[in-house]
Amino acid sequence: MRAVVYRGIERVEVAEVPDPVLVEPSDAIVRVGLTAICGSDLHLYHGKAPPAPGDTIGHEAIGVVDAVGSSVKRFAPGDRVVVSFDIACGDCWFCRKGQTQLCEDFGFLGYGVFGGSLGGAQAELLRVPVADVNLLAVPDGLEDDRALFVGDALTTGVYAAGLAEIRDGDVVAIVGAGPVGFFCAQAALPSAASVLALDLDPSRLSIAERIGAIPVDVSARNAQTAVDEHTQGRGADVVIEAVGTPAAFERSVDIVRRGGTVVVMGVYTSEVVQAQIGVWWVRALQIRFAGTTPVHAWWKHAMAEVEAGRLDPLPIVSHRLPLDEAAHGYELFDTKQATKVLLTP
Ligand code: ZN
Ligand code: ZN
Repeated sequence: MRAVVYRGIERVEVAEVPDPVLVEPSDAIVRVGLTAICGSDLHLYHGKAPPAPGDTIGHEAIGVVDAVGSSVKRFAPGDRVVVSFDIACGDCWFCRKGQTQLCEDFGFLGYGVFGGSLGGAQAELLRVPVADVNLLAVPDGLEDDRALFVGDALTTGVYAAGLAEIRDGDVVAIVGAGPVGFFCAQAALPSAASVLALDLDPSRLSIAERIGAIPVDVSARNAQTAVDEHTQGRGADVVIEAVGTPAAFERSVDIVRRGGTVVVMGVYTSEVVQAQIGVWWVRALQIRFAGTTPVHAWWKHAMAEVEAGRLDPLPIVSHRLPLDEAAHGYELFDTKQATKVLLTP
């Protein structure tokens, strides 16, 4: 089959690789109908958590079940399914609590040895371990390009808004208006008084504005001043950090009000920040580290929101390319010429 293969820093290519096969009786093989490039793929691309050269990458996929192992009960060949980017056992202490991102046997598709050496989703075929847990049926009539995002970024936004426990009247600031920030804004909008989207990229800001968020261009404005203007000088009730850099984290803590909540969604690996614990303590901040999204605990709700039209990913899709043009897609996304790239195998 054809798949996107990691070759080294900022080098990916589409190559012929062996078809995945059923390894465990709980596995399924999915024929991928549509996949996408995610912000976390750029961490690999830049060598922040590099897979081995030759590993297949990608973790967002929707498609049709091609084969199932003997113990798979909920799915059969021909079923249309979306895949969770994080792979959980469904049966350990953490999974049973709904904290599937803390699974004792956690895996991450297409993330090399850091993700448990599972194959990537930017491919024609994908092996999905524990299929009964890590696949979700797609309702008839719901298009692939809307449902795809339920396996990753869209459900991440729903999870972030859920962690933030937004109350009516809250002013919510989203630091970073990329795809995850977009979904955080969309999920926060119904329960917030207003949502401010902070970014420096004009196309991201205009997409955020189109769905009803207030764009704040942090290349032209001081973030704190802009947030203060909307909150009588208090700061935001809730800040969702959706970038994953120390600067974004520090900005988030700066713009939250006293007693407010910061939800840290951005992906971190080995970054270090200086913590002024006394300042945070006296400000009575709640800082909630999201970790990886426990997709399984939130995706049924997210799928229902997409089906009802309350969450709509299409505004962020800027490019649709054949899988063979994946390397070009990575370049477009990396240089911010694309807001989201879909790939069709
Ligand atoms: Zn992702
Ligand atoms: Zn588990």
